Amino acid sequence: MEEEELEKLRKAGKIAAEALKYAKSLIKPGASLLDVTKKVEEKIVQMGGGFAFPAQFSCNDIAAHYCAEADDDIIFDKQLVSVDIGVEVDGFIGDNAMTVDLSGENSELVQASRDALENALKLIKPGAKLGEIGKAIQDAITSRGFAPVRNLSGHGLGEYKIHTKPTIPNYDNGDETELKEGDVIAIEPFASAGAGVVYESSPASVFELIEKKPVRNMFTRKILKEIEGYKDLPFCRRWLVDKFGEAKVNFALRELKNIGVIREYPPLVDQSHGLVSQAEKSLIVTEDGCEVLTDY
Ligand code: MN
Ligand code: MN
Repeated sequence: MEEEELEKLRKAGKIAAEALKYAKSLIKPGASLLDVTKKVEEKIVQMGGGFAFPAQFSCNDIAAHYCAEADDDIIFDKQLVSVDIGVEVDGFIGDNAMTVDLSGENSELVQASRDALENALKLIKPGAKLGEIGKAIQDAITSRGFAPVRNLSGHGLGEYKIHTKPTIPNYDNGDETELKEGDVIAIEPFASAGAGVVYESSPASVFELIEKKPVRNMFTRKILKEIEGYKDLPFCRRWLVDKFGEAKVNFALRELKNIGVIREYPPLVDQSHGLVSQAEKSLIVTEDGCEVLTDY
């Protein structure tokens, strides 16, 4: 990677980590999820970042992909809150997450995903096998009596692409693919007090443009134009509703989904509704280890 690109990647990572720390400071009983989301998004823009995806605050048995709607009414109280922040700088992405335990009763579960992440990071170097990284994650989580979420995984980070190869498993899947110097990846262990398998719930508030196609309806066309400005990265309904109003946006999103222009990212919920914690950092593989890009 060119030095100039590396600097953009580092900048995205730094902003993502700062935004995550800021989010943590705002998550308190009595604060509204919507308000915290907006403040964090404002902070990202102030720091010179773009959104690699909308800021997400997934509570309790929701592992990921809960993003506030324009009229979201969740007030933080005693939830287990997994915050996931993605920032882009000229397409270079920093992706990181942590879980805040407002009840104070789930520190073991939170620690399990943190330990798993730290253990995985120790293994990262050229030649490290993906299955071995998964095993380190799995062992850290099961040793505390929890289950790794097997159908969620870490991933490569590309230019304007949030999920590329390689896939970093959260359990030992036997994958012997080796990491290479220069690989940019996000590692994201999830620890579950329940099934350790998530399903796609509804309704979705996060979407992504997958294929541009002509649309006839005037409103839908207008909204598609706005969506094209999100540079093929995930976006949320709220951004559109704040600009165009709920009725038009819901009509357009439905139409765009039906004709295959956008896809949904629904909330991912633990199958047996166990609490889920997450920890995530982005890194680049170096000659003899790795450089963590989102050092929170
Ligand atoms: Mn993430
Ligand atoms: Mn990620």
